[in-house]
Amino acid sequence: MKKTPEFNPRRLDARAFSKNGATLSGRWPLSGFTRLRDALAASHDGTVQGAVDWTVRGEEVPQRGGATQAWVHLEARTVLPLVCQRCLGPTHETLTLERDYQFVADEETARLLDAEVEHEVLVLERELDLHALLEDELLLDLPLVPRHEVCPQPLEGGGNGSAAGDKPFAALAGMIGARRDSD
Ligand SMILES: [Zn+2]
Repeated sequence: MKKTPEFNPRRLDARAFSKNGATLSGRWPLSGFTRLRDALAASHDGTVQGAVDWTVRGEEVPQRGGATQAWVHLEARTVLPLVCQRCLGPTHETLTLERDYQFVADEETARLLDAEVEHEVLVLERELDLHALLEDELLLDLPLVPRHEVCPQPLEGGGNGSAAGDKPFAALAGMIGARRDSD
């Protein structure tokens, strides 16, 4: 077996990672995502429970003329603890995401390519922070108005009403709304 270098997901050399066809996976606690955490429901002891399971795979795609493209494929799954905006009781949302990132040498190439293709285009950095990238993706996929399909106590205002009191959903909705149409 060919020896592959160690890769650090917080400081990933995407070019080398793709060249090696390497794979990394792990599990990061939701409480470690400082931007996402504010939108999540804390449990009774004030901590945010849960974790994100993720896998990344590098791929080098040969081009005509001997050049290669660097790709990183990301898959992640988590169950987010949220507050139902109808009954203010606790609810959960399962998120799964799959993203394909092509890495290019510079901003200009990224800008031109991004207008043409469906997948994500990122500029190569020596140290890509996958934790931050994953957090960006989770924030984009976060439900704007989390709700039970059917609230357990719809007419009683069920659950603990104070649970949602200090959650900045309005600000978050505004932030994400710029990228999404309302639904
Ligand atoms: Zn509800």
